[in-house]
Amino acid sequence: MTNKLTNLDKILHRVTRPARYTGGEWNSITKDWDETAIHIALSYPDVYEIGMSNMALPILYEMLNNQPDVLAERVFAPWVDMAAEIRSAGIPLFSLESRRPLTDFDIIGFSLGYELTYTNVLEILDLAGIPLRATERDDSHPLIIAGGSCALNPEPTADFIDLFVIGDGEEVLLELLDVFREWKQAGKNREWLLRQAAAIDGIYVPGFYRVEYKPDDTIRSITPTVPEARPVIQKRIVSKLPPPVARPVVPYIEVTHDRGAIEVQRGCTRGCRFCQAGIIYRPVRERPLTEVVEAAEKLVNDCGYGELSLVSLSTSDYPGIDQVVTQLSDSLNNVTLSLPSLYINTFNAPLMDSLSKRKKIGLTFAPEAGSERLRRIINKNVSEDEMLETFAEIFARGWTSLKLYFMLGLPGETMEDVAEIVRLVDRTRTLGRSVAGRTPQLRINLSTFVPKPHTPFQWVAQVSEEELNARHELLRAGLRRKGTRISWQDPKTSLLEAALSRGDRRLGQVIHRAWELGSVFDAWDEHFKFDNWRRAFEDAGLDISFYARRQRPLDELLPWGHIDTGVTADFLKREYQRALEGIQTPDCREGPCSACGLEKRHPTCQQRRQKAVKS
Ligand code: SF4
Repeated sequence: MTNKLTNLDKILHRVTRPARYTGGEWNSITKDWDETAIHIALSYPDVYEIGMSNMALPILYEMLNNQPDVLAERVFAPWVDMAAEIRSAGIPLFSLESRRPLTDFDIIGFSLGYELTYTNVLEILDLAGIPLRATERDDSHPLIIAGGSCALNPEPTADFIDLFVIGDGEEVLLELLDVFREWKQAGKNREWLLRQAAAIDGIYVPGFYRVEYKPDDTIRSITPTVPEARPVIQKRIVSKLPPPVARPVVPYIEVTHDRGAIEVQRGCTRGCRFCQAGIIYRPVRERPLTEVVEAAEKLVNDCGYGELSLVSLSTSDYPGIDQVVTQLSDSLNNVTLSLPSLYINTFNAPLMDSLSKRKKIGLTFAPEAGSERLRRIINKNVSEDEMLETFAEIFARGWTSLKLYFMLGLPGETMEDVAEIVRLVDRTRTLGRSVAGRTPQLRINLSTFVPKPHTPFQWVAQVSEEELNARHELLRAGLRRKGTRISWQDPKTSLLEAALSRGDRRLGQVIHRAWELGSVFDAWDEHFKFDNWRRAFEDAGLDISFYARRQRPLDELLPWGHIDTGVTADFLKREYQRALEGIQTPDCREGPCSACGLEKRHPTCQQRRQKAVKS
């Protein structure tokens, strides 16, 4: 341990929740530093409690540590008090396991799952003493890599990241490690490493692309500058999911999702037109039932969790979910099971029956829109009758608490659609009273529609703050009822999210400037400083509305136009047109394949497409 790390003990008592920084948790892995050739730090750029709730990190942590010559450790964004303390004490940011400075690592990998964590990436690099921009780094610095859903539009953070992993990381990271080993042995320079990496499917090295703009500020071209860089980067898809992580690190302190978690399937084909996850994680890949049950039992027995979550974008769509719940109810007697995302149509009686034997934790559903008309536009294919029938069954089985998610500002939304939310909530409350005999507790969560890359609504403008405020007012007045609590998102947060998610490479200077002005932890209300962002856009000579509130023509070259999720632009355009006409598209697991593009790449999709064509 160095002197600087000894100083850590002198500051820990001055910061909130010091256990965020001490490491040593159950199942954490500390390998011999000197005996291990490659050192990797994995980071989710938010505070420990959020980072430890991320699903991707444990997968990569286990997979990388399974490599004999690789050591993977964790680092999260230090909370503002800790950041101030280590800055003033001159302590460089360190990993949790070995407490080594991040500069000692070969690779630092960020999982980017939310645009409002971008300034935290800069904060982490700066606290570590690593130059922020890729162009300022040389052979002596760690390689900075990133993956996760935000990597599907990598451009806003392209200045800071050496390379992005596009899609599932399980296979491509091992291929990157092979190149890294060769690079280390051969003693070549950083450019050689990056060029070899750029030749791997699913790796994007932004420094090898030139972006040119038109006079109207839209993009003219995105061109590779070296032969290894491909004009289009295809998302990596793991055909068969590896076994789930059954021995994750168990935190000492309460974290945001304080429970064991098993990913039962990846992907969703419901086709909600606003949903980025529903496109970028296609196709659906299910884990076998026995694998899920065995992993869940091992997880609970090895980690001591009292609550287990079966995770997926739509858990009730997992075939055999009621069997899994029944089996786990028998084998894990004292464990509470939670299904975090339920689709109303598939939360059926057998599943309710198997869950209702257990402790009743609140159920969450996302009708998203109050009216059937708007639900048709967004392809949320559930009728009000189906919804109320499901709620009646739920109340009849003793549940009295429901969380309902709605989205405001959806394309085509009118104030009448918003008023329908009030009516739907009223009907649900009345139903609860008549079926359960008492007023149900309803928590209504109102998010704002953010047009996301790679979705059928990627071209759509976000509504203005005034329009959103009018919607909030209507709902606040309409939902002021006993037993109903509402929460909503600050429209300025959603505006920034919309700009960053559909941004181009020029936003790098905006992110950098906002961080210079003191912005970190933008996802936290108490730290969100919109004035910094307003000034950062002004200083960069850019207009936030250009990114967030502009309806983009269908033929515009989008900043993420060179990133291929496997779902074609033609399919997205078709879906956008169907939205305008209020036409639904069925889930391709139940209905016919709609030829989204993955039929060219994935065997199950090929079969479904052939079947659809024949019939
Ligand atoms: S190719 Fe067909 S079956 Fe596969 S995800 Fe797309 S629509 Fe569904």
